Amino acid sequence: MSAAPDPEPLPPEAPAVVLGAGYAGLAVAQGIRRRSRGKVPVLLVDRNPVHVLRTQLYEVGKLAATGADTEPWVVPLAESLEGSSVEFRQGSVEQVDLEHRTVTLDHGSVRFRALVIGLGNVAAYYGVPGAAANTHQVYRLSGAKKLAAEILEVERASATLPGERRPRVVVVGGGSTGTELAAEIATTDWRAIADPRARSPEVVLVTGALPFLAGFPSALVERARRALIRAGVVIVAGWNVARVDPGRVTLEDGTVLACAAAVWCAGLEAPPPVRTLPVLHGRAGRVAVEPTLEIPGHPGAFVVGDAAEVRDPRTGGPVPSTAQAALAEARVAARNLVARWNGTPLAPFEYRERGVVVALGLGQAAGAVRKVPIWGSPAALLKQIVQRDYAHSVERGEPPSLI
Ligand SMILES: Cc1cc2nc3c(=O)[nH]c(=O)nc-3n(C[C@H](O)[C@H](O)[C@H](O)COP(=O)(O)OP(=O)(O)OC[C@H]3O[C@@H](n4cnc5c(N)ncnc54)[C@H](O)[C@@H]3O)c2cc1C
Repeated sequence: MSAAPDPEPLPPEAPAVVLGAGYAGLAVAQGIRRRSRGKVPVLLVDRNPVHVLRTQLYEVGKLAATGADTEPWVVPLAESLEGSSVEFRQGSVEQVDLEHRTVTLDHGSVRFRALVIGLGNVAAYYGVPGAAANTHQVYRLSGAKKLAAEILEVERASATLPGERRPRVVVVGGGSTGTELAAEIATTDWRAIADPRARSPEVVLVTGALPFLAGFPSALVERARRALIRAGVVIVAGWNVARVDPGRVTLEDGTVLACAAAVWCAGLEAPPPVRTLPVLHGRAGRVAVEPTLEIPGHPGAFVVGDAAEVRDPRTGGPVPSTAQAALAEARVAARNLVARWNGTPLAPFEYRERGVVVALGLGQAAGAVRKVPIWGSPAALLKQIVQRDYAHSVERGEPPSLI
């Protein structure tokens, strides 16, 4: 095998390149600009010209109600970056060459003096036959829109179903995304949206071999369980999914769940340009980074957000893959990149979780803020306010924060 030819020497004006304009990437790009007072040139790359408010993608009832042509959870990057010195380039990242400081895009390539990878993650199907082809997902806006359109169609068709049968939607994955989505589908007023004679779907939440909401505070788990049961969600625990066929989810114990639609919320992994990097990887292909968020052996190259495996220095455990953690990492990565650029010392990342709130439909939620439990409509209101403030700060290009 012949080695890749050396590209041209790095041009002196090569910028700091930030890959991904999600929660981590957009905040890093703005952070570098602010911290360096515009002295470090920043090029932000994303396949989409918009920042997606991904934490709201479980709200498929709202998506269905607003119609296929609307884009409720996006902020145009042109709006967010207006008046800033951050340059934006739309393109899909195919490969990152750390050695030659080159990123290959679907159209062309870019050279970098410093790099931040914030490419998020993609659904992981763990080799379950049929799962990728026969399930929906809400990890991307396009997926959430397709799911909303499918449930709308199923609900419209239910108006003319013979007998008493209700259409069934199977949600696979008992983490926060599966829980929020199951509650949303079960509590949406589909009659108002689809057809006055529509039959509300029977929602089955398959939590698999893992406990329901594993890793969340026990008070939150119990409240969430009760809220789901009240909403009519059937929780099936204990067995992983063995295969998915069109209209059928089969569990490892042989149970077959016939369904009108199935949704995969069971796991995530690093996207291909991250998984294929020849560096140390952690769980699910994430890059195992130094406490400074740099890639070991590659000073000036950082990974942030869901693409990174970051260890909490106090506990040694992994920092969760959340937007809240992504924003906290972005602040430190921006600081450290500018320090690297200027030849000054870097600082380690330390994580302090502010809280977590899981939406449970009908204006209810459960969570904990600074370890104090919060539930019911105040919890739902807090979640709404935090998400709205985040969206406003992104629109105005201000430093965002999030619970
Ligand atoms: C339904 C749902 C609800 C959630 N709720 C919460 C919550 O309440 N609180 C919380 O803290 N977290 C929540 N999360 C998790 C949170 O959304 C993620 O942790 C967060 O988005 C991670 O940020 P990121 O910047 O790493 O990735 P993302 O925000 O996913 O950004 C990645 C960016 O990279 C771009 N990209 C990816 N691949 C390529 C490529 N090859 N080329 C070019 N661009 C590319 C994408 O277009 C995207 O803009 C939720 C997630 C989901 C799915």
